[in-house]
Amino acid sequence: MSNDVDVLVVGAGVAGIAAARALRARALSCLILEAKDRIGGRAYTDATGFDHGASWLHQANDNPLTAFAEALGFETVDHDKLRQRLLFTEGRFATTAERRAFMAAEDHFWRVIEAAVADGAPDRPASDAAPQGGRFDALVAHWEGAQICAAELSRMSLHDFAATALDGPNLLLRHGLGTLVARLAEGLPIRLNAPVSQLDWGGKHVDASGTFGRICARTAIITVSTGVLAQGGIAFTPDLPTEKHAAINALPLGLLNKLAFPIAPGTLPEFEPFASLRRDIAAPGDRPISWISRPFGAPVLLAFIGGSLAWELSRAGRQATEAHVRGEFTRVFGTVAAAALGPPTITDWGGDPYFLGSYSHAIPGAQAARRALAEPLADGRLIFAGEACHPRFAATVAGAWLSGEAAARACLAA
Ligand SMILES: Cc1cc2nc3c(=O)[nH]c(=O)nc-3n(C[C@H](O)[C@H](O)[C@H](O)COP(=O)(O)OP(=O)(O)OC[C@H]3O[C@@H](n4cnc5c(N)ncnc54)[C@H](O)[C@@H]3O)c2cc1C
Repeated sequence: MSNDVDVLVVGAGVAGIAAARALRARALSCLILEAKDRIGGRAYTDATGFDHGASWLHQANDNPLTAFAEALGFETVDHDKLRQRLLFTEGRFATTAERRAFMAAEDHFWRVIEAAVADGAPDRPASDAAPQGGRFDALVAHWEGAQICAAELSRMSLHDFAATALDGPNLLLRHGLGTLVARLAEGLPIRLNAPVSQLDWGGKHVDASGTFGRICARTAIITVSTGVLAQGGIAFTPDLPTEKHAAINALPLGLLNKLAFPIAPGTLPEFEPFASLRRDIAAPGDRPISWISRPFGAPVLLAFIGGSLAWELSRAGRQATEAHVRGEFTRVFGTVAAAALGPPTITDWGGDPYFLGSYSHAIPGAQAARRALAEPLADGRLIFAGEACHPRFAATVAGAWLSGEAAARACLAA
């Protein structure tokens, strides 16, 4: 059988786009097959400018997408420099002293985590090392776990958590990070509505099939999420080796969902552009959500739900999700303010069969799984890429981009 293309890329998210660009630059023919009717994967901006998935360029000075944003003239702001940080505690807004105490607790958290990793002890759940008992320790743990990493610290490898920790600057793009990603895909050969259901990698070629028919290639780069891989979203023939299954299962996806509430002009003037609000933990087991108001002055309020609460609400459905989030808003701002929130756009990354979660974390003891997943199979005929494969920038668009480029290099080497 002859090849239709040199390289078949499965998935038109950030990793697939980066891989295809790198292959095109080396004059290898490639085709991206994408299951959905749009590109971008977990980096997608809708027509209103709402980023359903990724929105920040984290650690912007090391982020490969920052240079593209600059070169293409995308307007960015350093969110950390602009954001007013609000904290709601004990039924009122925190005093300056309390806000400072919270920030000190965050600094202390990271010093303790770094020391715990440096002490040479075996890996364990990140929660085992986190400080406890201080006034804001539980809130910091909830914030760094469920709200940022999309999973509770108890589910995560301490070593992977520390190795993938991110710093600023955190840039926001006025026209959306998904818009930048879509620009980077321009001119690439992408077939939409083409879910790969089977991939045969047992012969001299790889052979992908699905409702689109069959495509034969010399090599395949698979960029679908570890959630999709773990659920058997693609049937591999022969089955993947045990080590690959182990790596996939050791890198589950956490869940972060967002709601974008329109706010009527002239209402809620107290919400400054870019302000971020966190609510304190009121009692053990409480799982607060967080908010960002009016990014770039837009009349919108964003809510973020992470971790186990996000999974529970995802299973309960959109109505229950909206009711919960409105209840949280009312608790902090009262019923009059809550009435100013219009019908929200609600994401459900956990319920979408082409993602099944938001981004990956390594389970305790499994930091090495990221490299194991990225290791090419069959002399480079089958290569996995995507955010979960990057040992430093996992869970981000930066990690996805760099892993896509690495997969393209591995193809060339093969
Ligand atoms: C709510 C949320 C907020 C986030 N915030 C940030 C942030 O602020 N900054 C940041 O850097 N990162 C953030 N991330 C993470 C970031 O979006 C991801 O790490 C990154 O986009 C993953 O890219 P990827 O190419 O690895 O995977 P994906 O984007 O999942 O791409 C894989 C593609 O494969 C497709 N696919 C699936 N199954 C098949 C199949 N069988 N056949 C063909 N195609 C298939 C999917 O549709 C998808 O398009 C966020 C993610 C979410 C969900």
